[in-house]
Amino acid sequence: GSTGVPALTVRELTVRFAGLTALDAVDFTVRPASVHAVIGPNGAGKSTCFNVLSGVYRATSGSVRFGERELTGLPPHRIAALGVARTFQNLALPPRATVADSLLLGRHSLTRSGFVAAGLRLPSAIREEARHRERVREIAAFVGLERQLDQPAGSLPYGQQKLAELARALCMEPKLLLLDEPVAGMTADERRRTSAVIAGVRDSLGISIVLVEHDMGVVMRLADSVTVLDFGRRIADGAPTDVQNDPAVVRAYLGD
Ligand code: ADP
Ligand code: MG
Repeated sequence: GSTGVPALTVRELTVRFAGLTALDAVDFTVRPASVHAVIGPNGAGKSTCFNVLSGVYRATSGSVRFGERELTGLPPHRIAALGVARTFQNLALPPRATVADSLLLGRHSLTRSGFVAAGLRLPSAIREEARHRERVREIAAFVGLERQLDQPAGSLPYGQQKLAELARALCMEPKLLLLDEPVAGMTADERRRTSAVIAGVRDSLGISIVLVEHDMGVVMRLADSVTVLDFGRRIADGAPTDVQNDPAVVRAYLGD
């Protein structure tokens, strides 16, 4: 049984680059179907943390467990195939492709019939593609982009492009979603809308989320638990309201 097993367990995670410790024995735990925020001033190690969780960087030491599965040392495609999807701090969708086609790309790893069947337009492959397109439509509707499906992703307002990236990650049917600054650069209205979508991902889809975010308002509204990093070290961990009032956290942000 998986009762009581965290969605993600990070233990003593250390990442060193030449002469610099970007993460220094960091611990945190993410409960199933919860939002866990990783926050901290610039250079604290947040993106490095994401890059280790998604397999882009290798940990110098320490471990990352996804449920009961050890992720440490696995390459990005293996981690993704296990059900861990991520978005990037900067826009990463192909700008000319339609939103529908971009989201369909997100389902590539779920495709069973393979290139040969698809290339020959075999009935099985055509049926499978229709199923994927239907699911893409559902996910687009979930994030509120159903009417933008046939538009080039690059022609959408910035906030909608960020939502399209979130939708593409959802198209992988992940169990754990890593979001790197999902509301960065958004208007207040776009931030509210995106926050509501993220809450829906947790509450309606039951997906666990690790959120790196600068916007403290969004963190306080959305997060169930928070880890604060500063210069690669964990300086606080707990409920959002406790962390917000922690003197070490206040000092770290004032010194930013
Ligand atoms: P944050 O996302 O919290 O702003 P980062 O994780 O991007 O912080 O960076 C943490 C530290 O690690 C910074 O000092 C940064 O310069 C350094 N760093 C990040 N990636 C690399 C890399 N690939 N090579 C060398 N140093 C890096
Ligand atoms: Mg960063």
